[in-house]
Amino acid sequence: MSEKTFPLSLAELQELTRRFPTPFHLYDEKAIRQNARRVTQAFGRNPGFREFFAVKACPNPYLMKILKEEGFGADCSSLAELLLSERVGLSGDDIMFTSNDTPAEEFVKAKELGAIINLDDVTHIPFLEKVAGLPERVCLRYNPGPLKGGNAIIGKPEEAKYGFTREQLFEGYRLLLEKGVRRFGLHAMVASNELNPQYFIDTAEILFALAVALKEQLGISLEFINIGGGIGIPYQLDQQPVDLERVGQGIHEAYGCLLAPFGLEKIKLYLECGRMITGPYGWLVATVRHIKDTYKKYVGLDACMANLMRPALYGAYHHITVPGKENLPQDTMYDVTGSLCENNDKFAINRMLPKLEPGDLVVIHDAGAHGHAMGFQYNGKLRSAELLLREDGSVVEIRRAETVDDYFATLDFKGLRDF
Ligand SMILES: *Cc1c(COP(=O)(O)O)cnc(C)c1O
Repeated sequence: MSEKTFPLSLAELQELTRRFPTPFHLYDEKAIRQNARRVTQAFGRNPGFREFFAVKACPNPYLMKILKEEGFGADCSSLAELLLSERVGLSGDDIMFTSNDTPAEEFVKAKELGAIINLDDVTHIPFLEKVAGLPERVCLRYNPGPLKGGNAIIGKPEEAKYGFTREQLFEGYRLLLEKGVRRFGLHAMVASNELNPQYFIDTAEILFALAVALKEQLGISLEFINIGGGIGIPYQLDQQPVDLERVGQGIHEAYGCLLAPFGLEKIKLYLECGRMITGPYGWLVATVRHIKDTYKKYVGLDACMANLMRPALYGAYHHITVPGKENLPQDTMYDVTGSLCENNDKFAINRMLPKLEPGDLVVIHDAGAHGHAMGFQYNGKLRSAELLLREDGSVVEIRRAETVDDYFATLDFKGLRDF
């Protein structure tokens, strides 16, 4: 069983909503820091371990700064994410740049920052050389194809657009060697929201075996192996969080059997999780606007899928609680909706909840990663504010809510007059 908690009492939340109107995302700094330390601890026995927070999961500079203080780097996959990392004071070895279908300007910026560039395709080697010049160190992204079983969100590796085949990988390192590159990394990311700890140990083992083959066939000693992100979180009450200690220990043992006999036991271990770092420590808080009773019962919130689209996009489960009504019987079945003109704008379908009324505050759990970040403005719906609960109990706004002016910012109404 996973337990779903919220860090504020009803009175504290009501007080907060007087300062900041709903909907908003709230993040818990203390819980994020504690979790970051758990990650560092669990993988700490592996050489040179470092987590690069996947910026796309929650691209807020305040959270990135907190994670930087906890020793994490940043995993970026776009120009905006690179610029955000730069603004937070990250550079060089602090940044992994893992992109695909990459535009030239992104390679140029990544190279300028001294980021670790992770290439998605063998053709990107000459492309990078042409647009930015080859850096001293290059990482290649491996797609194990049928070697590795599928995963619900990413799907089967051989259907995934990412990475090099095994043959291309050898060809790629060989080409880089010819071009004078001497420092290498290896990367794979084959899971998303995966809860089976063994899956990550198996991925590490596949990459370790590959590291040995690269050593034997090309004489390359990799500097690091990045096993990607994708560690899941228990969105559902009956799911278990991934036992990080077990993953860290399993990988440590794999170092001993697979790498040590070949003198490769110093290869650094990198991880680039997003979801597991901030997901459980962020909540979307909304207010019940209307209750509607037609063929079904509907609760209409002041939040919509623009604030959290995972349920609409993947049919994902997000637990919902109603502060102040925790002890009432969950005897009413609702579809919990937003106001967007799409019938999949629902946070929950056929969900048993206590009887709700307009004005009730509703907390949607596990919204701290791939939540606000996935927001969009379709239908003129605006992205909400993001708030941070500090360790001292104070709450600060770390991103304001969008306004209609933001929505219109790309339009030229002056030009319209003469049009
Ligand atoms: C999305 C992504 C991640 C993070 O995934 P999580 O599921 O949030 O851990 C890491 N690396 C790459 C390359 C990604 O695309």
